Amino acid sequence: MGPMDVLVGCDFSKQFEFYSPFVITKGTYMSTKANIFVAYTVQRTGANQVLDDDITILDDDDSEEDTRVEIQTFFFISTSNENNPKKNPGIVHDALQKVFDHLNFGRPGGPRSVFLVSDGEYRNRHHFAWLGKQAVERKGDLWWSFYVAGHGKGLYDSEGGVLKTWARAYVKQHSTPEFNPINDIHDLIKHARDNLANPKGRAGKPPTVVKRHFFHQEGIIEQAKNGVQVAGSNMLYAYRARGSRDSLVEAREFSCFCDICLTFGMNCTRPGGPWKKTGAGYIRDDSDDGDETGDDE
Ligand SMILES: [Zn+2]
Repeated sequence: MGPMDVLVGCDFSKQFEFYSPFVITKGTYMSTKANIFVAYTVQRTGANQVLDDDITILDDDDSEEDTRVEIQTFFFISTSNENNPKKNPGIVHDALQKVFDHLNFGRPGGPRSVFLVSDGEYRNRHHFAWLGKQAVERKGDLWWSFYVAGHGKGLYDSEGGVLKTWARAYVKQHSTPEFNPINDIHDLIKHARDNLANPKGRAGKPPTVVKRHFFHQEGIIEQAKNGVQVAGSNMLYAYRARGSRDSLVEAREFSCFCDICLTFGMNCTRPGGPWKKTGAGYIRDDSDDGDETGDDE
């Protein structure tokens, strides 16, 4: 990864339950739940630093004096049951596009390459098409690699925990018998923005998470449907699309986080086989994606 590149991760974090003590129907305590989907961005400030194989950059090790890692987190909050990120790829795409817009990915002053990592549960044939569309439209390079379930859950869980713990304490502190300050998703997002957006560091050190962003994923978000289906996508654990060269989506059977892969190089010798052109992409008017060969350029 170069100094301008960004690592982005996303995963479902937690649910937050809104208690509405004034709505009791036939003895049932009514509540609504909000799903909290979290994305994060990791950017470096200062000197170059190469990511380790296993993303140890997330381990909060600030021992390098001349470089700092800045993490920002993005909360996508929804009360709609249809907005399940594991079932509806549209939720993931909507969230990641907001993150890319925030980063100015592919635009002046923004990163030219984005490296996505997520749990293998998010592998889905619709992501191929979306990946190609984002890369081509932004003329940026996009790389998405998946790890086995459960790996790297720490930041999602801790950030979701920060929101839940804070919200419960806020309700306890500010509620009266007639008033609950966090009665619905609008209250949650408003008060979270006011109170959690700019974390303070401890003991004179800057905070690890420097900024939090809150979004309401309103209504039902349709999943992307304009993609070319890819046979065998359940066997593929890494995708990439180099929009800077207008290339089609390529895929590989194993994730790899080596220096070659992280610089979109061609000659990674680790197991997992060569990058293969999938023929996938989003459907363009001048579609010419019939090239099925495995040749790298
Ligand atoms: Zn590699």
